[in-house]
Amino acid sequence: MLVNSTTRLCCLIGHPVAHSVSPQMHNAAFKALGLDYVYLAFDVEKNKLKTAVDGLRALGAAGFNVTIPHKVSIVEYLDGLDGKAEKAGTVNTVVLENDLFIGYNTDIYGIAKALEGFNLPEDKAALIIGAGGAARAAVIALLNLGFDEIILANRTVEKAYELSGWVRSMNRRASFCGLDRLGEAAGNCGLIVNATPIGMSPKTDETPLRSKDIPENAIVLDMVYNPLRTKLLKEAEKAGAKTIPGIEVLVHQGAEAFELWTGRKAPIEVMRKAALTALGGEHP
Ligand code: NAP
Repeated sequence: MLVNSTTRLCCLIGHPVAHSVSPQMHNAAFKALGLDYVYLAFDVEKNKLKTAVDGLRALGAAGFNVTIPHKVSIVEYLDGLDGKAEKAGTVNTVVLENDLFIGYNTDIYGIAKALEGFNLPEDKAALIIGAGGAARAAVIALLNLGFDEIILANRTVEKAYELSGWVRSMNRRASFCGLDRLGEAAGNCGLIVNATPIGMSPKTDETPLRSKDIPENAIVLDMVYNPLRTKLLKEAEKAGAKTIPGIEVLVHQGAEAFELWTGRKAPIEVMRKAALTALGGEHP
């Protein structure tokens, strides 16, 4: 399908965006279904966010994704929020609905889908490393999946404390710690989610946890997807734990966004293949 005068616009806004593989993933999906849409990525600095949203509104964009550093600040420029985005307090997807920009958080769905098929030990605590937007999405996903206790660990311990209060306000158990006590915290957990950029390219030798601190029956989900197999996932494998790479979250959060924009079922395998290719990985 050629881009022409009727083509609908979807895009990513963030700063930076050059590393993103969302354009490859979504354009491959539009092409596979023969849809007249195009997906671009725009580097938008913090002080240009309002202007960018006004511009997209004036242009009648079908929707857009939002990434660092705008996932929270975007909320004030939108016309409404979906319930899950409101609960999480962060937005990663915006959809034009009846001329209104409505904010969604598809990371929550992406995390839940990535965990699907795993035997989740809901009777044990879940450890979330990080206290930013991805951690908030992970909290909502894990609470929806039935986890009753969440441990939050963060570099800035005050933010982990804040998030633990938020979890308690939803009537679930929560505790917090700094990264110095991560090993100790992980020992009691059945599920570990890394929601920080630790281990992300180019610092691929970094990991928030070593194998000796990862319980062998744990499930470890790393939200980082570049590299595809992070140091944390390698350490988890060494410990005998089950691992889930961040690309699974990437593909499923993208799939839900695609479905919201187009009303069509997302071609998951096409999207996974495009993302893997863009990240230099293997695909069948
Ligand atoms: P964010 O809102 O900016 O939060 C970043 C979090 O990481 C904060 O808790 C921050 O701690 C911590 N952090 C940042 N640099 C760190 C470092 N060098 N050492 C230790 N902690 C550090 O970002 P986000 O949206 O939550 O994203 C977090 C990660 O998840 C990113 O790598 C992002 O690419 C990934 N992600 C992946 C997907 C996916 O589809 N797979 C979706 C969403 C996010 P402080 O509070 O101390 O600053």
